[in-house]
Amino acid sequence: MKFHSTRNPAVEVSLRDAIRQGLAPDGGLYVPEDIPTVDPGDFADDAAAADTASRLLAPFFAGEGALSEQLPEICADALDFPVPLTELADNAWVLELFHGPTAAFKDVGARFLAACLQRIEAGADRELNILVATSGDTGGAVAAAFHNRPGIRVFVLYPRGMVSPRQEHQLTCWGGNVHALRVDGDFDACQRLVKHAFTDDALRARRRLSSANSISVGRLLPQMAYYAHSALRLRNHSDEPPGYIIPTGNLGNALACVWARAMGMRIGDIRFATNANRSVPDFLASGDWRPQKTVATLASAMDVGNPSNMERLRHLFPDFERLAEAFRADSVSDEVIRQTIRDGETRYGRQWCPHTATAVATYEQQLAKGRPGPWVLVATAHPAKFETIVEPLLGHEVAVPESLAGLLELPTRQVDIPPDYDAFREALLSV
Ligand SMILES: *Cc1c(COP(=O)(O)O)cnc(C)c1O
Repeated sequence: MKFHSTRNPAVEVSLRDAIRQGLAPDGGLYVPEDIPTVDPGDFADDAAAADTASRLLAPFFAGEGALSEQLPEICADALDFPVPLTELADNAWVLELFHGPTAAFKDVGARFLAACLQRIEAGADRELNILVATSGDTGGAVAAAFHNRPGIRVFVLYPRGMVSPRQEHQLTCWGGNVHALRVDGDFDACQRLVKHAFTDDALRARRRLSSANSISVGRLLPQMAYYAHSALRLRNHSDEPPGYIIPTGNLGNALACVWARAMGMRIGDIRFATNANRSVPDFLASGDWRPQKTVATLASAMDVGNPSNMERLRHLFPDFERLAEAFRADSVSDEVIRQTIRDGETRYGRQWCPHTATAVATYEQQLAKGRPGPWVLVATAHPAKFETIVEPLLGHEVAVPESLAGLLELPTRQVDIPPDYDAFREALLSV
């Protein structure tokens, strides 16, 4: 299948080039030339998530030669942890996406992208250097996904003093081909250094560079798999197709759900749960797309005022009426996030991370409005990742899952650099 830029259908590339490039050269985002449809009847209800992924994604890999033959092993490599669907209440389930190595849903996309790139790069004569600027959450998933992949090095840049100790540990515990650079500046400074490197032709003559950010189709496509996987499990549970409630920031996770439904999966209403960053709900209310300034909230991984994937959604639904029918969006305040976390244990016997709490609050609002479901609530991270927020609200410690506990015991190492391009360049070239 071909992929083209949201800004120009004439900018057309193969999947492998879309994955290698990340962003299209005209600044647009790559989208598949069309959304293929599948028959859910061809899928087993109880297949492993990796097998469902492999069947679902096959049409996107058609014509990719060796890469398409490797799709089953790529899916097995990326989805080597469970994605359980657990019952929350009558007619409501939680899709738990936090059982990967860094305990958040970004593990799925990052691991799939890494598994693809490793194979795409297999014949290359020089190493590929992946540059990632992170404000804390994404960098860990990317570092974990690329750790020990032959032919690939990773440089993770993060702002000194602005990530939590547990987050910092997940950025700096890898060693080997993963290099953690602690920048004496803020996240924007980290991002500036990475952007500068991509424009430095002299550097690019010496080092092959790539990125692994969330707009890559290599991260988006595999996210469809867990929607298909869970929808198939619920196939015989109710006459109504289940609605999905998805904690949403940059709209990557939510877009994958919209795509999975467009492919023919049995998914009903789709509701995006946002935090106080209201650009998407305001757009649906007014019809006017106005990105807003980002505001800081408790659900920090969703603090996005100008979500990049809106460009893909608007490309899929050029007509506003159709777009506004395709999904709903609700904004959840920090106060409601706090209350939802506090109530989680008494109401359901569960602990929520602040992001997942936005979906739970939205679900409770839907019940109050007389919409009984069936609902699937997407849980995007383990609460132990955000212990500084969750523990004071619950009044006790949150148990750390085994995979995360293992990482927290590893020794850490980072290189300190000033927010200065020459220092970054030197660090890059010294490896
Ligand atoms: C990234 C992230 C989100 C938001 O996902 P998007 O794809 O950016 O909408 C939600 N929750 C957690 C825990 C995240 O890390």
